[in-house]
Amino acid sequence: MQDDLKFYQLSGKINVMGPVLGILFGAIAALPLSFVYAYAVRYIPFIYLNFLISFGYAFCICIAYNIGEKLGHNRNRFFSFLGSLVMTAVALYCAWTAFFFVLLQHNIPYLDLLLSPKQIWLLIEKIIETGWFSIGSSKDTIKGTFYMILVLAEALGYLWFIVASCVLDSASVYCEECSKWLDPIGMPSLISPKLENAMQQTAMMGTLPWIDQLELTREAPFIVFTLTHCSQCNNLSTLSATKVEIIVKQNGKETETEKKEIKLFQNLLINNKTREKILEKLEDLEKIQKENEARALEELQKQNEQAKRQEEEKQ
Ligand SMILES: [Zn+2]
Repeated sequence: MQDDLKFYQLSGKINVMGPVLGILFGAIAALPLSFVYAYAVRYIPFIYLNFLISFGYAFCICIAYNIGEKLGHNRNRFFSFLGSLVMTAVALYCAWTAFFFVLLQHNIPYLDLLLSPKQIWLLIEKIIETGWFSIGSSKDTIKGTFYMILVLAEALGYLWFIVASCVLDSASVYCEECSKWLDPIGMPSLISPKLENAMQQTAMMGTLPWIDQLELTREAPFIVFTLTHCSQCNNLSTLSATKVEIIVKQNGKETETEKKEIKLFQNLLINNKTREKILEKLEDLEKIQKENEARALEELQKQNEQAKRQEEEKQ
């Protein structure tokens, strides 16, 4: 849908250091955190809490992986995908190792377990066969095929989560000239959704005929812009637009609000002139909006005073 020349795309250049540093950082996070995971799974009998801790374990590993991968300057998403597969294996391996260390009450030294994948594998096979816990008031130990399905489901859950969170985001912007990642900057202005269709056209055509027609709004739905800009070479800028809807749901007595984001277009390449024009336009609109609001407030105060005076005259 998007025109390659008008929209920014990652160069796809491979840098092995990306996944390598990612996995290294992820492993450094996984080693201590796997103990938190293991003690929680072993001694906290609340499955929901275990699930949260397990999720937190994977989440921290992903943050560490992402930091490492960006430091390694990898711009290839397939390579990033391969890295995240290895990261999943490392995360699961650390979790199982710490778990057996805790379950066997430290009888086997941690390093012996960590450095012996074969032993870990045998222990996994054995624990699936014998089981070690039961669910709820049941006294039957969970084991055999059912336990194996649970273990597989957990592994697949990790795989899904780590791949989804670790693979390099296609919206990332990297300046090849300056060899650096650019941070996206969200513009605070809430833009009226009147131009939604025009912005969808932008996604097809890569043109911006609507800058002069921009208007602001105070409430949802609204559109927000995100800009990236390389301040080092001043040669690379992109613009993205997202529509934000707030959906209010009535759930019995409680009202729930849900934020829905729809990408209208992403990383349109813009030149400095266009970038400045957009920034100026938004600044002008903000100024006008503030003036209008100040005027409305003044008007309201005047009316209040007038009403008060009339009231006093009556008495
Ligand atoms: Zn640059």
